[in-house]
Amino acid sequence: MSHSNQNNSKGITVVSEAVCQQVMGRADAFTAVENVFSAMARDTAYNFPVIREAIGHADALYGFKSGFDRVGMVLGLKSGGYWPGNIDKGLTNHQSTVILFDPDTGKLNALVGGNYLTAIRTAASSAVSIAHLARQDANVLGMVGAGHQSTFQLRAAVEQRNFKKVVAWNKEPEKLTNLAVICEELGLPFESVSREALCAQADVIITITSAFEALIDQSWIKPGTHIACMGTDTKGKQEVDAHLLARARVFTDELTQSTTIGEAQHAIAEELINEADIIPIGDVINGTKAGRTSDDEITLFDGTGVGLQDLAVASVAAELAEAKGQASYFNL
Ligand code: NAD
Repeated sequence: MSHSNQNNSKGITVVSEAVCQQVMGRADAFTAVENVFSAMARDTAYNFPVIREAIGHADALYGFKSGFDRVGMVLGLKSGGYWPGNIDKGLTNHQSTVILFDPDTGKLNALVGGNYLTAIRTAASSAVSIAHLARQDANVLGMVGAGHQSTFQLRAAVEQRNFKKVVAWNKEPEKLTNLAVICEELGLPFESVSREALCAQADVIITITSAFEALIDQSWIKPGTHIACMGTDTKGKQEVDAHLLARARVFTDELTQSTTIGEAQHAIAEELINEADIIPIGDVINGTKAGRTSDDEITLFDGTGVGLQDLAVASVAAELAEAKGQASYFNL
């Protein structure tokens, strides 16, 4: 990673949503996210406190996620949030833009569309967790949730293990076609199942919902499962039984977020686990802490979504867009 357009020689780089989709693939996102998790564990990259506010208009949640990677030399923020009414306007309900600054001067370097990048960096996060924590012989993938993010999650996850089948559950079953069409395209058998049946079959489970109550009972999860909880990114949200975190080895992208806005917030509040029980996945990537230690162990990844992930993928997208002649430029 290095910051794009280092001397601002052409002006400020602009990378549109469409260009992000053209230049930035899943492999690039995986590498960028794995590298930044590693840097966070080495304390060379820092996330700054998150701001997230209900603005009292359009039911919107708006905020900033920012940070600095002092080895990758990436400084900036992602600003945006969640506008639930956007679907009716033909827009995605998550809206965001990444702003990158020159760490040497503070000058604005780049504006990068953040919607597609949010989806692929979130999918890369669970994919990194699967790569490092799931059993090598995992062959059934379970998807809980079938909204906008889920399709990106599915595509990234199936690249990590030799999955033979996908089982899925969604609150509104009709949305499961979002996932079924991808499985058809990939030649993977797909089955709509109950939540309990999903847990009985799946070796790897991804939860990617906006639920505020546990959807998965701890007793349903079989030994050896890897579960990536990706939907819980706000105080009060919850996807799995808090007791599952006491039964599993728990990993996260970032401890502070995990215990306050992530899936672990409930197990911590109920004193089922301590912060010391949660392992930053960067430590596993760096080889300083063990990942999965047995085939029977349940591993749980609490993927809360950190600003540095956004900055990492935006920085790579800007570099790729510039290298491929697809960036635009302007001067303030
Ligand atoms: P979406 O609105 O497109 O889909 C929402 C999904 O949640 C649907 O599958 C819906 O059926 C399900 N759902 C909603 N309420 C539910 C309930 N009470 N019980 C069960 N299922 C319920 O949203 P999306 O863009 O797919 O995002 C899904 C979630 O992921 C959101 O909560 C979002 O905040 C979160 N998210 C997390 C990260 C991260 O980095 N961890 C990044 C982006 C989005």
